[in-house]
Amino acid sequence: MSAASKSFSTVLLGGGVASGYFAREWIKEGGKGSDLAIISDDTVVAYERPALSKAYLFPEGAARLPGFYTSVGVGGERQDPTWYSSHGIEYLTETAIKSADLKNKTLTTEDGTAISFEKLVIGTGARVTRLEDFKTPGADLEGVYYLRKVADADALLEGIAEAKKKGPDVNIVIVGGGYIGMEVGAGLVKHGVNLTLVFPESRLMERLLTPELAGFYEKYYEGKGVKLIKKDLVTALEGTDGKVTTAVLKSGKRLPVDLVVVGTGARPNVELFKGAVDLLEGPPGGIKVDGRLQTSAPGVFAVGDVAAFKPAFTGELTRQEHVTNARLTGAYVAREILTPGTQPEYDYLPFFYSREFDLSWQFYGQSQGDPVHFGDQSSGKFGAYWIKDGTVVGAFLESGSEEENAAIKKVIQTKAKAPSDLQAQGLAFAASL
Ligand SMILES: Cc1cc2nc3c(=O)[nH]c(=O)nc-3n(C[C@H](O)[C@H](O)[C@H](O)COP(=O)(O)OP(=O)(O)OC[C@H]3O[C@@H](n4cnc5c(N)ncnc54)[C@H](O)[C@@H]3O)c2cc1C
Repeated sequence: MSAASKSFSTVLLGGGVASGYFAREWIKEGGKGSDLAIISDDTVVAYERPALSKAYLFPEGAARLPGFYTSVGVGGERQDPTWYSSHGIEYLTETAIKSADLKNKTLTTEDGTAISFEKLVIGTGARVTRLEDFKTPGADLEGVYYLRKVADADALLEGIAEAKKKGPDVNIVIVGGGYIGMEVGAGLVKHGVNLTLVFPESRLMERLLTPELAGFYEKYYEGKGVKLIKKDLVTALEGTDGKVTTAVLKSGKRLPVDLVVVGTGARPNVELFKGAVDLLEGPPGGIKVDGRLQTSAPGVFAVGDVAAFKPAFTGELTRQEHVTNARLTGAYVAREILTPGTQPEYDYLPFFYSREFDLSWQFYGQSQGDPVHFGDQSSGKFGAYWIKDGTVVGAFLESGSEEENAAIKKVIQTKAKAPSDLQAQGLAFAASL
């Protein structure tokens, strides 16, 4: 597909998760397909991005497109390129927008094509933080991988296959002990490689997991042969003939590597709109939106990872880099453009999930205040509540059933008061509400 000098009543910039769910809602709510254009620099139409760090990395039975185009993540229709064209939606892939003139309502592509709009939805998402951003020497060596797009995942898998051709012992260092590092680690260890996670925190997913919860996952990973190096940093990469061979750590350790995978977070893609819309300065950054996901520029909305809004639950202006928020904001703005002002303001209950090996957890709310653990880790089903001023503000559950996950969600949604015997009641407390 190639860009043309065209004019659309609505343009969605960014072909990520939010765009797929926007298009789905647009059609569901009676929007005219030919009024809508989606512009993306990716090579493929919108897909369920979380698959990339999960089933996409499996050595056998891996997820591949077209299997995970949106909106299969919620059991919806698989929106392949034909779905968009059959609805008359113009989906421009491999089309990078290089400048945005919001006053004149025009976007300009890399090749100079002007695309004008009446309404614009900014869904430019986030990009990975690169080792270059930390000025890590050797960041540009061959063999350093990131994971945001299908092409990144393909390159990583090819890198492993190439390394395996040279010998059975393939050493991979993953930089980062967050959920990307954990999920990628779980996927790659199945390839029979030697895997080491290096991260500066004192435990895995330190911002979310308590020492007790993290302890379970750390033991589990170590049991699968994954080495964890905590409280340390990759400060340099060294190589031979332009190819990475060694990860040098702050502690002075030197790890032999064939591949390095970096999972150190993401930054919102806001640069095109600097000076044209109000931005949230400093980390986490993002484009400020109001309760209807409208930016400070008339007729311009922002959705998904790039949008900074105030969920009622936290009252803090922040971004939510979570797939559920991308899906919901996409659908919300489609309705808002089609029938302005007829729905309640957007709200989002912070929610996150992850799947690693045969583990699967969900988390709702905030991990703030005092944690109360429940369940027996050896049984595989356990979790924690977080209590602040007598209210349960966060709930985490490993291996919950659909009903149990819905129950912990309800605890947070209803701002349940914590009973004095919460620990003894455990999951039964959630089920009793
Ligand atoms: C590997 C991975 C695993 C994840 N796993 C989970 C998970 O388990 N659970 C969870 O809740 N969340 C997860 N997430 C986060 C989730 O995928 C994101 O929250 C979601 O993808 C955000 O959707 P979006 O549409 O806002 O942005 P994105 O999906 O990032 O899409 C933005 C799109 O816009 C394009 N774009 C940007 N600028 C331009 C431009 N100038 N011109 C043209 N196109 C442009 C980008 O290339 C991209 O295609 C994961 C993310 C990653 C990367």
